[in-house]
Order: sequence, then structure tokens, then C-alpha cells
Amino acid sequence: MQILESYLQGQWRPGTDTGARDLVNPFTGETLARCSASGLDLAGACAYARTVGGPALRALTFVERAGLLKALAGAIHEQREELITLSAANGGSTRGDAKFDLDGATGTLAAYASFGKRLGDRRFLVDGDGEQLGRTPRFWVQHVRVPLTGVAVHINAFNFPGWGMAEKMACALLAGVPVIEKPGEQTAQIAHAIARIVADSGILPDGAFQFVCGGVEDLLDHLGPQDCVAFTGSAATGRVVRGHAGLVERGVRVNVEADSVNAAVLAPDVDDDSATYEEFLSNVVMDMTQKAGQKCTAVRRILVPAERVDDVVEHLGEQLGRQKVGDPSVDGTRVGTLTDARQLAHVRDGLAALRAVADVRIGGDVPSTDYPAQVAPTLLVAKDSDADAIHDHEVFGPVATILPYDGDVRTATALVNRGGGGLVVSVYSNDAAWTETAVLELAPFHGRVWIGSDRVKGQALPPGMVLPNVVHGGPGRAGAGEELGGVRGLDFYTQRTAVQGFQGFVAKRFGAADVGSEQE
Ligand code: NAP
Repeated sequence: MQILESYLQGQWRPGTDTGARDLVNPFTGETLARCSASGLDLAGACAYARTVGGPALRALTFVERAGLLKALAGAIHEQREELITLSAANGGSTRGDAKFDLDGATGTLAAYASFGKRLGDRRFLVDGDGEQLGRTPRFWVQHVRVPLTGVAVHINAFNFPGWGMAEKMACALLAGVPVIEKPGEQTAQIAHAIARIVADSGILPDGAFQFVCGGVEDLLDHLGPQDCVAFTGSAATGRVVRGHAGLVERGVRVNVEADSVNAAVLAPDVDDDSATYEEFLSNVVMDMTQKAGQKCTAVRRILVPAERVDDVVEHLGEQLGRQKVGDPSVDGTRVGTLTDARQLAHVRDGLAALRAVADVRIGGDVPSTDYPAQVAPTLLVAKDSDADAIHDHEVFGPVATILPYDGDVRTATALVNRGGGGLVVSVYSNDAAWTETAVLELAPFHGRVWIGSDRVKGQALPPGMVLPNVVHGGPGRAGAGEELGGVRGLDFYTQRTAVQGFQGFVAKRFGAADVGSEQE
């Protein structure tokens, strides 16, 4: 059994056995590794990041930091096959699921390398155009964004051990802020292998990257006003982090990416033989089966005009029936396992709550034993589309519920918005007026509105895919946070400051374009 250590202050260090957690293979139940962060000097790690990592990163230009990200993407990609094998063992991921996580990680690092290259040889961001403040242009303002001088603590969820860590790291490091990464414990063996690659590569300056392998311990107690916390996980833990007394008292920035009861809406104009309908079916099937449904962006509620429900169940059933459920390490398996027995228990409970208000039409069996922690894709149809359990509860597995509705756009959007704020909603329609109303009604409640139509068939990346140049996050229960979105992703790690003074100085030193300013 592997003992997973933490990488702190430039060294790998084991935690004590107190509170240690065993990591298992969720298909076989075999114990693979143990991790603990008890007894580690996390205050020292924060101080090391601030005094060693931060100054080294801030001394580099965006182009130089971009070079680091590109090199990191290459170093991780080199070990792709080993990481894929580990993802099957420790994460229950099929080869396709593992690639989604790992290529997402390297792809996001590479994307931020290219955004950084475009930012040039500067060390701060120019924020919009400068403006005249006084009666004449002599007194001027230019907004800029400068890196925070503290440490970025990243608390990640178990379901994307590679991508989750890389997407947060990419933004912070490019901004010039050192990171402490804390993975979800269930899949920490994969995150640990990636952390080893990062540390052993020697690509990053000393102190720019540290890794806590185990529980969060007292890490948050040591943070101050120049530090920040980016959290991804359940809404319940998100509330605990946001409400942490020390963070509140010291005004520490907190970004929360939490769970979301995402929806897909089939509009009444979409015919069975249209490209849009095909895309609707294949995206729903992908969301239900990819990573065994353990994706924060996966569709949980499927809104279908009432008279079409039986057809949709039949068509989804045909496609779901072709997805082989089984050992994730075997080629050809399309649906792997849940990450561990705890997740299986969570799905068992969630499904029981849904069964009270919906009929199971496909699947529905949950094993009573812990291993393999596997559930076949399960589709339900709501008895009452308004039932609270469907809108309030995220069942984090290959489970979705069809909600019949009357075909009216406002009925559909009101039902979707009952999720209380989501990461993404997909709308399938070729009716421009219907879609426009839907977008405007749904947008205040969602980080992304994804539109499927005949015009984008074969071109559109699926709604469940989080892209580096598109914002990720959502209001309300989704955590009210925001990540990524290209250079916007650096905002969280930087302070926006209005520099006010003589235009000749301010515009020349801090502005983007030549505004015809006087000499300094
Ligand atoms: P979780 O149980 O909330 O844990 C998330 C992270 O928080 C883990 O690293 C966990 O550490 C840590 N944590 C637990 N208690 C904490 C505390 N008191 N203070 C600070 N950190 C604490 O979530 P999960 O089960 O790992 O992930 C599944 C959930 O994440 C799902 O609900 C999913 O929707 C959501 N998710 C959201 C997004 C998004 O971008 N919005 C992306 C992926 C997943 P331990 O592992 O050591 O307990």
C-alpha cells in the first residue's frame, strides 16, 4: 500500500496516522493507498508560499509564466498512459473518462499558456481604457489588476483530480500567485501522481506549488487578507468554507464552485428526425454515462413536452442499452464505477428520494454490497414535475429524471430555475423566438446557457464540457462563484486598483493604448 505524502516547503512529508484515510479500488474494493495531512506544518507552508513562491512568480512576466504552464502541460502529458491506468484503479474511470480528466488538465494549462503569451511582457493587467476625470485630460484614471501577494489555497473535489487541480493552478500561477493544492481524498492517488510530476519536473520556482495530501486540517486558519481560497465540492461543504470564522474575520477572498441540478430542455419544435433531436439524445446519454454521472455539469433534469415523453424514454433507452457497464480497466467499458462505497451509498439514498416522486423507467438497481461500487444508468420520469426532491437534490451518479411539461417556454424556464442556480442549462430548439425567451429567462440563474440547434450539429462541443475560454460557475446553489473564462479567470487572484494622476504618467506607465498623452 502506497503512503501518499504532502509536498510542503520544497520537500515530501508524511502526515501522522491520526485521521488517515485509505483509498480503494472502487471496482475490486482493494486498498491502494493511505493519506493523511495530520501533524504537518501548514502555517509554515503558507508562509513559504508568501515569502518564497510569490516573489519569484511576481518577478516573471506573463510571457515567462505562460512558458511555465506550457512546460507543465508537456510534463504531465508525457505520463498520460500511467495516469490513465491509475485513474481506472483509484477513480473507477474508464479510459475515456480518464482522458477527459487528464487531457482537460493539460489542455487547460496549455490554453492559459497561450492566453499568457498574448498578455505580453507585463506583470500586471490593464483593465479597460483610461478616462479623463477632471475638466481637462490632465487628471486621468486607469484601472489595473495586480497579483495578490499571498497564497492561493485550492480545495478540490474528488471527481476531477487532474483537471480540477490544473484549471485552478493555471489561473493562479499565470496571475503570479503561488498555490497550495488540496485534492479530494478519494482520488488523491491520481492527484498525488500529478503533483509528483509537477514537483519533480523543477519547472516552477521554489514555493510556487505545494500539495496537501489528506484532510484540510488547520490550513484555513492561517490565511489572511492577501490570500484566497478557491473551493470545489458539495454545496454543504461550500457553506462551511464560506462561513469559516477566520476567513470571514480577515476578509479572505473565497470562490465556491458547488453542486448543480443541471437541466436539458427539449423545445416543442424539435422533430424526432432532426439533427437537433439526435444531438439532444447523445448529449443526455453522454452526461449520464461519462464518469458514471459524477460530473458537476451533468444533466440531472430533462424537460420534455408531455406528449413526447414515451418516445424520448424509448430512444434514450436504446442508446443507454448500448453503453457497456463494467470493469473500468477493460477496453470497451463505457460506464465505470462510482468513486467509492460512500458515493454508492449517496446514490442509493438519492435514488430512494427520487423514487418517491418519480417512476423508474430504465435501470434503477443499486447493489447492496459496497464493491463494485457500480450503478447502471437510471432514467426516471417525474409523477409531478414540480416535486421538490427533483429540483433540490443532486444525485451524483448516472441518474437523471425526465420532467414532462406543457411545451410553453415559461413553464420550462420556471421549472429549470427551481434548481436555485446552476452551472449549465442546455436548450434544444430551432425556433429563434422560443430560444431567445428561454435564454433571457434562464441566464440570471445559470453560469452558462448552451443552445443546440440544427445550425451547430456536428460543430458544438457538448454542454457538459468546461472550456478554458468560457466561464465556469453559477449563482445560488452552484456556489455563486466563477472560474476560467480566459483572462477573466485571473481576476480572482488579482486586485483591481484605480490609478489616478497626471495623464502623461498614468497612461504611459499603466495604460494599454497610446491616448496621445503629454510627456511624464
Ligand atoms: P465535498 O465532500 O464537499 O469535498 C470537497 C473538498 O472539500 C474535498 O477536498 C474535501 O476534503 C474538502 N472538505 C471537506 N470538509 C471540509 C471542510 N470542513 N473545510 C474545508 N474543506 C473541506 O465534495 P466531493 O464529494 O469531493 O465532490 C463532489 C461534489 O462536488 C458534487 O456535489 C459536485 O457537484 C461538486 N463539484 C462541483 C464542481 C463545480 O465546478 N461546480 C466540480 C466538481 C464537483 P476531503 O476529501 O479530505 O474530505
